Amino acid sequence: MYIDTHAHLYLEQFNEDIDQVLARAQNSGVGKIFLPNINSETLAAMNNLGQQYPKLCYPLIGLHPCYVKENYKDELAIIESELAQGQYYGIGETGIDLYWDLTYKTNQIRSFEFQIDLAKKYKLPIIIHSRDCLDLTLDIIESNQDGTLTGIFHCFNGDKAQCKKAADMGFHMGLGGVITFKKANLGDMVAYAPQDYLLLETDAPYLSPAPNRGKRNESGYLPLVAMKMAEFRSQPVTEIRDFTTANAEKLFKINAAQV
Ligand SMILES: [Zn+2]
Repeated sequence: MYIDTHAHLYLEQFNEDIDQVLARAQNSGVGKIFLPNINSETLAAMNNLGQQYPKLCYPLIGLHPCYVKENYKDELAIIESELAQGQYYGIGETGIDLYWDLTYKTNQIRSFEFQIDLAKKYKLPIIIHSRDCLDLTLDIIESNQDGTLTGIFHCFNGDKAQCKKAADMGFHMGLGGVITFKKANLGDMVAYAPQDYLLLETDAPYLSPAPNRGKRNESGYLPLVAMKMAEFRSQPVTEIRDFTTANAEKLFKINAAQV
């Protein structure tokens, strides 16, 4: 069984055919899918999906850095009270994005640090989105690492040194469709990364792996990412599947018997 550690299957792109999308995922061998939240407006749809498919879809909760605006404290208050009531398997996605908009950089950092504290309080892994600021994000984790913090650098695109720094802090690399893009040049890092810190993800509906690049992504495409990882690491794809699944089960504290 594969685990997709990052897919936004509750978004409107899947309104018409979510049942078929999930059936295709299961036919491809994907047995569990983690759903990172975006903001307070996506909570209802995400939780509905989790309730409809309790053994397949696992909700996470957080505020995405691209949705940190002036009102981010109100958003975080909603996230915090939801977290206290519901069942969530991780905090995210959070992090910092300096690619789209620098206006709220300070607020993004504050929001990230607030969510790091929530992860510590609830002993949950944190799912990090970092774009155009990987060193800054790594430094923030380093200065907040008290030995209890765990999590994922989602869509990790760093070099070997950044990969080592993340793994040395106990953090995982979430790898998706981007590793199949020729110009991404991630082969050396993927080959080098310690096996215990690698995870598979799709980030559906975004970042569809080759040869489906540009189309809507879905969890059923996860084996395409696994095959690329197998090629870079010169390992059989069954080994990739098994260790990434074991890593995800351990990180999210999901028992294999619950399949
Ligand atoms: Zn995402």
